Amino acid sequence: MDAPDWLAAARRICVLSGAGISTESGIPDYRGPDGVWTRDPDAEKLVTLSWYLRDPEIRRRSWLLRRELATADVRPNPGHQALVDLAQQGRLRALLTQNIDGLHQAAGSTDVLELHGTVHQVVCTSCGARMPIGEVLARVDAGEPDPACPVCGGVLKTATVYFGEALDPAVIDAAAQAAADCDVLLAVGTSLGVHPAAGLVEVAHAAGARVVIVNAEPTPYDGLADLVVRERIGTALPRLLAPPS
Ligand code: NAD
Repeated sequence: MDAPDWLAAARRICVLSGAGISTESGIPDYRGPDGVWTRDPDAEKLVTLSWYLRDPEIRRRSWLLRRELATADVRPNPGHQALVDLAQQGRLRALLTQNIDGLHQAAGSTDVLELHGTVHQVVCTSCGARMPIGEVLARVDAGEPDPACPVCGGVLKTATVYFGEALDPAVIDAAAQAAADCDVLLAVGTSLGVHPAAGLVEVAHAAGARVVIVNAEPTPYDGLADLVVRERIGTALPRLLAPPS
């Protein structure tokens, strides 16, 4: 489907991306048909703070999975590239992502608001010390299944938002401001099931923006969208966001 006139004319597009934009790069999503949680509902425990803090076995499994994501030989795909091109057209108001994989930045997007943090950094749950994940994975590889904080001995986790944790207030505030100040909110590759990120669609809608949803499966917000596109992101986005002629 080509872009309707109002989308081609949009000048301040706010993008909210989710795990679905990275599946064509080889990173599984959570809730899609091949999603990590669809295949193993128990996997949700790995990103639930209370489970993670209380159970060393959960942490051991978690580091192995994090290693897969942080060191995977994955490259951005045409969906990520379409958003770099959109910024170059001067039509991107903000890029908000729920993803933790860093692929938007790898594609060349700048000023990405990472609502749920990044898997490339590690943080101590006691003292807040931060370090690159490579340092921690090296210790895992050297035989420490559950490495402790080198500063205070506390429990380490990736610098991603776990269930039971709040989002960084500065990041969600900036995201809400962008959503309230756009002419189109484009949600792409997200099941829109995780709040407060999903609520940004309502923020934009309430402020008068049009809403576009590009996702293979239905979402709870399809009813308020002006356009719902159920195609593969890598083919749909370059067409929908092509420069206006
Ligand atoms: P989700 O797994 O809940 O939903 C992804 C949606 O994308 C699904 O509805 C699926 O049908 C759709 N989809 C998948 N591939 C698609 C494609 N090629 N074309 C069109 N649609 C496609 O993901 P979410 O809403 O982002 O929520 C999951 C949470 O998990 C997020 O908070 C995120 O932080 C985290 N997560 C991140 C990554 C990543 O960084 N790549 C991967 C998995 C999960």
